[in-house]
Amino acid sequence: MKKIFFTIIAITAIVATVKIFTKSDDLNLYNDSSADNFSADNFSADSFSTDSFSADDNTDFTDDWRLILVNSQNAIPENYNIDLVQLSNGVSVDSRIYPDLQQMFDDARKEGVYPVVTEGYRTNQQQQDMMNEKIDSFINEGYSLEVAQNLALDWVALPGKSEHELGIALDINADADFCSDNDVYDWLADNAYKYGFILRYPCGKEYITGIDYEPWHYRYVGTDYASQIYSKRITLEEFLGVE
Ligand SMILES: [Zn+2]
Repeated sequence: MKKIFFTIIAITAIVATVKIFTKSDDLNLYNDSSADNFSADNFSADSFSTDSFSADDNTDFTDDWRLILVNSQNAIPENYNIDLVQLSNGVSVDSRIYPDLQQMFDDARKEGVYPVVTEGYRTNQQQQDMMNEKIDSFINEGYSLEVAQNLALDWVALPGKSEHELGIALDINADADFCSDNDVYDWLADNAYKYGFILRYPCGKEYITGIDYEPWHYRYVGTDYASQIYSKRITLEEFLGVE
């Protein structure tokens, strides 16, 4: 039964239209510490509207790519399109978040903190592979297929329901040669919102997000929304009113 379920998930999975940009000279997020190494020509400025907004007005969030909700209840929207830009370490992210991401990393480095994007965009197939690996690991521990599938769900999001498939969610850790993961997590916790990124799975909000605290997982929502979410210490679910 579960096997059929997973097959259906795989078959009905959203096919994201993916274009990979590669600009060898400005994708220096990984190692380069120069301050001016991003260019704005690989993102479209009009998708970056920062018109002021209040969560209290009745703005319709549904059309804003920055606020797409993906969790165990909400799958990646159908026909979701992504333009990807590839970082120098091979990780790809949505090109629309690239300028803010670059600025954030440049500013962190100026303060002696050296972040690295360790996970960015993930295809539906990669998510499926992660799920299968997790199921296999539980089977190898002696669990039945059905139990292994249930256990895996505690660790890996179902394909189609991982924020990483949006390309605007990132796992950010440290360049271990220069600082510790905790240095990075602390800096991000205090500063990421200034660049449009929110801590997506905060400590103490597990009952809302359904995900354990992940100090490395940041989600782009744009600077306006991020400032509001940060100052209220709320989750994306609470901000959208869908707890
Ligand atoms: Zn993540």
